[in-house]
Amino acid sequence: MLITLGPNRTYGGCISLKKDNLCKIQIQMKRLIFILSISCIGFLSAGATTFSVKDEKKPGDDKKAKAKREDTTKQVVNCETLTSNSEDEAIDTAQILFPSHDLYASWDTSRAHPYNFNEAFKDDSVLLVLTHPEDCGFSMPVKGGITSDFGWRRYRPHYGTDIDLETGDSVAVAFDGMVRMAKYYYGYGNCIIVRHANGLETVYGHLSKIMVEPGQTVVAGSVIGLGGNTGRSFGSHLHFEMRYLGQALDSEDFVDYSKGCLKSNTFVLRKADVEHKYDLRALRSRHKRDVGLARASGKGKAGGKAVKGVYRVRQGDTLGAIAKRNHTTVKAICKKNGLKPTSVLRLGQKLKI
Ligand SMILES: [Zn+2]
Repeated sequence: MLITLGPNRTYGGCISLKKDNLCKIQIQMKRLIFILSISCIGFLSAGATTFSVKDEKKPGDDKKAKAKREDTTKQVVNCETLTSNSEDEAIDTAQILFPSHDLYASWDTSRAHPYNFNEAFKDDSVLLVLTHPEDCGFSMPVKGGITSDFGWRRYRPHYGTDIDLETGDSVAVAFDGMVRMAKYYYGYGNCIIVRHANGLETVYGHLSKIMVEPGQTVVAGSVIGLGGNTGRSFGSHLHFEMRYLGQALDSEDFVDYSKGCLKSNTFVLRKADVEHKYDLRALRSRHKRDVGLARASGKGKAGGKAVKGVYRVRQGDTLGAIAKRNHTTVKAICKKNGLKPTSVLRLGQKLKI
């Protein structure tokens, strides 16, 4: 493990390190810096965030964050500065930075999804650069067929894509990044979450074995665990999620599972798509509300038929219309119900047909 993390924090929290590990960390930070310097170009091209943010930020701090994300020139300078300083200076632990540091402003190693997309995402859309064209910054987590798609299941939303595997099969990280969480976590079972430089997080669930630790830098394709059947799982498979600021996205919009590659090197995430496609709970409640409204409006319309020889009068009904729909005559209805053709019908009145 390269970095020992202190207590877990939520929004606005900072990262602290254990004092007795400080020397060890300083040595290991140099290794981290070396790795960072190698992967710097890849990280930056993938929309990497700044490498020298000291101030804590809140999710609403989007103008500043956006400005930093767009200022790639500054990012290059920061990266070079950090690398050269590492030769002769001890690293200020406050400068330990994580992928998409400014976007998230928190690094939580204990909770899977502490972020609120609607709170943090203020723009209409964002361009996500997934890989650098000149490197192979993507790897299929596991080669296997899809057994369950992203979407609503009978009783609950399914925020990932299930990929078939055998217990013990190697599971690889999809993109370069840093492990944020690696532990047993409720229905996910043994679960690893990796933060990437472009702001995406990938989730690997139901593993039989976890082979990485929080803070560890990983490169696309490196094995991070073994597939399994832990947590809420019925049969060995990998539950694979892609998220942005906590919002689950359909990985099939990014990955061509039949070919084993990305569909594109970039992805535009629109807030409208989240509302209409990815926010499963909101979609579900909208659907329920629409169905309820349709049923409610249906109640007020004329046009029903008799059930077991009895018809209940609805708004807009007339004896003639009821007779026609039920293949009888006004005279027959009047006779059975002691009515006159001119009788006024009441809403809900039961008529023998
Ligand atoms: Zn799943």
